[in-house]
Formats: sequence, structure tokens, C-alpha cells
Amino acid sequence: MQIVTRDPATGAELGRYPAHDDDAIERALAETAATAVAWAATPLPERLALLRTVGKILTERRAQYAALITAEMGKPLAESLAEIDKCAWNCEVVADLAPEWLADRPIDSGAARSWVSYEPLGVIFAVMPWNFPFWQVLRFACAALAAGNAAVLKHSPDVTGCALAIEELFESLQPGIFRALVIDAERVPETCARIVADRRIAAVTLTGSERAGLAIAAAAGAALKKAVLELGGSDPFVVLADADLGGAAEAAARSRFGNAGQSCVSAKRFIVVEPVADAFVAALLGATKSVSIGPLARADLRDTVIRQIEETVAAGAKLLAGGGTGTPGYFVEPTILDHVTPGMTAFAEETFGPVAAIIRARDDDHAIALANDTDFGLGASVWGEPEHALAVGRRIRSGALFVNAPVASDPRLPFGGTGRSGYGRELSAEGVREFTNVRTIVAG
Ligand code: NAP
Repeated sequence: MQIVTRDPATGAELGRYPAHDDDAIERALAETAATAVAWAATPLPERLALLRTVGKILTERRAQYAALITAEMGKPLAESLAEIDKCAWNCEVVADLAPEWLADRPIDSGAARSWVSYEPLGVIFAVMPWNFPFWQVLRFACAALAAGNAAVLKHSPDVTGCALAIEELFESLQPGIFRALVIDAERVPETCARIVADRRIAAVTLTGSERAGLAIAAAAGAALKKAVLELGGSDPFVVLADADLGGAAEAAARSRFGNAGQSCVSAKRFIVVEPVADAFVAALLGATKSVSIGPLARADLRDTVIRQIEETVAAGAKLLAGGGTGTPGYFVEPTILDHVTPGMTAFAEETFGPVAAIIRARDDDHAIALANDTDFGLGASVWGEPEHALAVGRRIRSGALFVNAPVASDPRLPFGGTGRSGYGRELSAEGVREFTNVRTIVAG
């Protein structure tokens, strides 16, 4: 069985990779398990020195890695370079702050001494998507390795070249600390479930769709393993009557069309109160004219987005811009749908592509009700006079609230969702501690 990667801009074949057989998977599990024991006993400053070196190499090789990202998943080169730079920054932030995040935490319990210590778990199994092929992996790996664990990665097959490049980077510095598995596409669910259940795997983390999250959560539950799930979203971007409409529209276009809309935290439902709705829509149309995006990552992802647009228009929404495709790759035009209402496809489903759905709200209470009318709960962005927007934002359920700014991940802040957007946190102290045994120690 071979994995074939394709250039989404042309559909042309890029590479062929043989899938790992059971023996190769066994070797990867055995090697990482052995390395995890030694790594857990390695002093934290040495572990963090490795991350600093990884960050330096990422910066040295930024052009090479960015070209690989662009070739395999299609985003413009400037966005791929920014992704690599963010990975390097994350390495620095974790190396700087992990001593604080992982320090013993004394607690006065009446005993002579009592404290919490954050101890490694073992080997962490990560299942990752294609949309940010380096960032999603480095985000998890820096946290896991800083905490004293080793890692096994099952990446999206679409970005197998990226997976193997990241493995080569870690392996050149610390053999056995990070292994990437290339898994036969026909056997992904059962092979992943078997890996999750393996005694050498301590915990699992997944970023991806609800469908994949359900499968991994079920496997983790059956094996009584901890899981962190970072799933999809249908993030609200709420524009209030006292918002700076020009600033909001610029941010809306960047948030919705960056990465061709293939981001879990890109704004998806633009909920605008009636008095400013026409002016915001005009500003968003203007901001969208200068947007330039790459293709979607796969033909089936393009087809899904086109279906969502067509169903929403058929249900009564107005197509104000875009809606078309481009060839020979998997292109979808930046699309704006106005007068979207609850129940329409672009409201009810996550749109993982360049589609902005405008929903008109009568007033603040209606805007809040619309924002909360979803089973997802990843990020929320609210625009208006700061105290007013904050008060509205507090009434929206989400893992993150950004006032007068688009939702974005930052290595210093926790990242994750509520509801069907998943559970657990990545990044910051909370993210690093997800991959630790929070151990109580009482010493008389
Ligand atoms: P996906 O199927 O969820 O893929 C993500 C990862 O999960 C891939 O490595 C995939 O491997 C793996 N996976 C899928 N089913 C699995 C199973 N039963 N057991 C173990 N691993 C499994 O994502 P996609 O189909 O490429 O994208 C479709 C949707 O996913 C998007 O529309 C979006 O909603 C969501 N998504 C979300 C994010 C995010 O950042 N939250 C990122 C990407 C995608 P295989 O491809 O080999 O099956």
C-alpha cells in the first residue's frame, strides 16, 4: 500500500510513500517507549535546549519547509513561511516558560510539606490534520516533549512529506523521541485504535473533524486513556452597533479567507445587528476584493464547500460574491452569502473553506442567541465599544473570546473548545500540563 500526495493547485502527483507495515509500527512504539524512559529522567533545561535547537533549525530551513507545505496543501508561500515562523516562536516560548509551567506547586495542607508535581506520562500518540501541517504538530510536540514525554505521530496522508520532514528534524537531534507513522489508508481506524490501546501509549491527542474525534475518543475510552480533542468550529464573529466597521470588515476578511478558510478558528458565522448590517456587508465586500487565496487541500473538500454554498442559496440566502471554482486545482472563490438564517447549511454545518455567512440580528440579545445556536464552541470574536462587546462576549459559550480582534492561537494562551469542538487544552501551561501526571506529594 502506498500513500500518494498531490499538488492541490494542479492535481498532479507529488510523491509516493510506502505505508509502514506492522513490524515498522512495532519498532516505532518500542523505540519511543524506550526513549521516553530516558527522556523523563533528562533534566528540564536539557529537554528545553532541544526545543530551542528545533526552533533554530526551523528558522534556518524556513524556505525549504514552507515550500513543502505549499506543495502538499496549497496555501500561498507567504502563509507557509508565517506558519514555520510561528512554529519557531512556539519553540522559544515553550523553552522560556516551561520551567514556570512545570514547576512544583506548593500547597499548604497542614502536612509538613505538600505540593503538586507535573510528571511525564510516557509516549503520546498524536493524530493530526493537513490544514497547518507543521503548526499542528509542533504545537503538540513542544508541549509533550517539554513535559518529558516521547511522541508518535499519525499525520494526514495529504501531508506525508511534512510528517517525514518533521520526524527527520527531531530524529537528527534525539533518536527515538519522535516517530511519524505512515498508515495504510484502508486500515486507519483499526490501526489507530490498536495504537491507542497499546500499553506503551499513555495518552492521545487529535486535531481534526468530529468524525475522527468520535473514533479516537471511543478508542481512548475503551482503553481508559486520556484524550485531548481539538475539533471543528462554527465560530461567531459578532458585529455590534457601535463597532468600528472598517476594522471589523478587514479582520473578518483575514479571519475567514486566510488559509482559504481551512482553519478551525476562522470566523464562519458573521452575526451583524440590523442597524449596521448593510454598511458592514459593503465593507466586507470591499475588503474581500483584495483577497488572494490558494486552492483547498483536496477535491472532496472543495466539493463539500460547493455543496454547502449551493444548499444555502437554494434555501434562500443571497450570493453576494464568489461561489465559483477554478481549475485545474481545487480552487473555490472567496464567497459571501447574505441573509443566512438558522437551519441553512452554512449556519448549521462547519464551512471549512472560503465562505462567509452573514446572519442579521435584531439586537444584542438576538445576536447572542444566534451565536450560541450551535453545538460547537471554539472561539468567539465580538466587535463594538470594548466594555459593551466584552459584556456581550461573556454571554457566548466558547473556549476563547476575542474582543475587537479575530480569534487566533498564541503559544502563551490556552487553546481549545467546548461542546462538539472538543475538550482539553493545547498551548500555554494548561496545554503542557495535559501531557503530565498531576501528582500530589505529601511529605511528613
Ligand atoms: P479528518 O478526517 O478529521 O482528518 C484528521 C486526521 O484524523 C487525519 O490524520 C485522519 O487520517 C485522521 N482520522 C480520520 N478518521 C480517523 C479514525 N477513524 N481513526 C483515526 N484517525 C482518523 O479531517 P479531513 O477529512 O481531512 O477534513 C474534513 C473536516 O475535518 C473539515 O471539514 C473540518 O471540519 C475538520 N478539520 C478540522 C481541523 C481543525 O483544525 N480543527 C483541521 C482539519 C480538518 P486519514 O486522513 O488517514 O483518515
